[in-house]
Amino acid sequence: MNHTESPTTSPWRLAARAAAMNPSAIREILKVTERPGILNFAGGLPSPETFPVEAMRAACATVLGEGSAIAKPALQYAASEGLPELRQWVAGEMAKQGATVSPDQVLITTGSQQGLDLVAKVLIDAGSPLLVETPTYLGALQAFTPMQPQVISVASDDEGVLPEALAAQLESGAEPPRFMYLLPNFQNPTGRTMPEARREAVLAVCRASAGGGLPIIEDNPYGELWFDQPPPAPLLARWPEGVIYLGSFSKILAPGLRLGYVIAPPALYPKLLQAKQAADLHTPGFNQRVVIEVLKGGFLDRHVPTIRALYKAQRDAMMAALGQHMAGLDVAWTQPQGGMFVWLRLPEGLNAQALLPKAVDAGMAFVPGTPFYAHQPDARTLRLSFVTSTAAQIDQGMAALARVIRAAAS
Ligand code: PMP
Repeated sequence: MNHTESPTTSPWRLAARAAAMNPSAIREILKVTERPGILNFAGGLPSPETFPVEAMRAACATVLGEGSAIAKPALQYAASEGLPELRQWVAGEMAKQGATVSPDQVLITTGSQQGLDLVAKVLIDAGSPLLVETPTYLGALQAFTPMQPQVISVASDDEGVLPEALAAQLESGAEPPRFMYLLPNFQNPTGRTMPEARREAVLAVCRASAGGGLPIIEDNPYGELWFDQPPPAPLLARWPEGVIYLGSFSKILAPGLRLGYVIAPPALYPKLLQAKQAADLHTPGFNQRVVIEVLKGGFLDRHVPTIRALYKAQRDAMMAALGQHMAGLDVAWTQPQGGMFVWLRLPEGLNAQALLPKAVDAGMAFVPGTPFYAHQPDARTLRLSFVTSTAAQIDQGMAALARVIRAAAS
């Protein structure tokens, strides 16, 4: 064969886990929404207005400043567990939420998305059953899928997973699931929160499950972004030995830092650490040092309330706009008490994916709900982010969406 000819066969053979990977359905969808001038409610990004540029600049100057004793350590390789000050800070924050955590249980990760990946590697074998909410965070499905689990979607309502559906699933399944993945606060994508009573009821089912209980992966990147009152205590505080907890700095500082953490029971920690070492040795020490500087003096106690106030005003604008423009249409939506998202259900007979190009033509974009379901998607659902638009844009965007729905429903 001469070298200009294209080969008829490829020398590469994909692993089964690579074949199981999918392009992010959202990224594909977002391509449609990237037209200039579109009012974009599709993204999952925090508002850049909340990024603490000044505090970050000052912290960078401290870390790298002339005579700084930490300038060179910040540029050196660092411990895989994460820097002690940051692990200590995480343990202190968890204590405020009623969870007793030793800094030794904290693993600093490259975003909480890496926490999901490490958990998947450590806990899932090909064919292992695991349970998720209906719907659930798409990025978790993406992290779990390459390990080829059998993902089982448990029926859920506006308060999260249904305890009786969970109990029935546990009774019917032949093999005990490796874990249940739960998002108790201001869930992505629905915005819903598990109330106190539901947390207790779900935990009771998990703890009573055969073989020492059904372990829980608790993912909580939005918990600090509450509007009127903090959410109930985390599941970790209630069942420390049965919960792996994932936290993140993405929504309270900035996602570009790629800083998150896993809190694991001591028995599991070494395996997660080994997976972390294999993945990236450690999370950037420079970013950790900068954030340690930012956190000094209680910065977040002043900063996070400004994010809550901004997002609450945008939530209010979204609720008002939906109430006004969807009047008379058979449309339902969630009432988020925190976080970034509203979940909307279209009138019977409509399909969110089919509606999207029409919405984009009308000047607005959303994310269809289908990719957030592990099974049997409700094609009438869609997700709207309210945090990257002004009140005026929210009003205009929901008016456009209502027009498109009305046209499609008639
Ligand atoms: N979990 C959930 C529920 C999320 O919404 C996100 C971000 N979209 C993540 C985890 C990952 O966040 P990060 O890696 O930025 O911490």
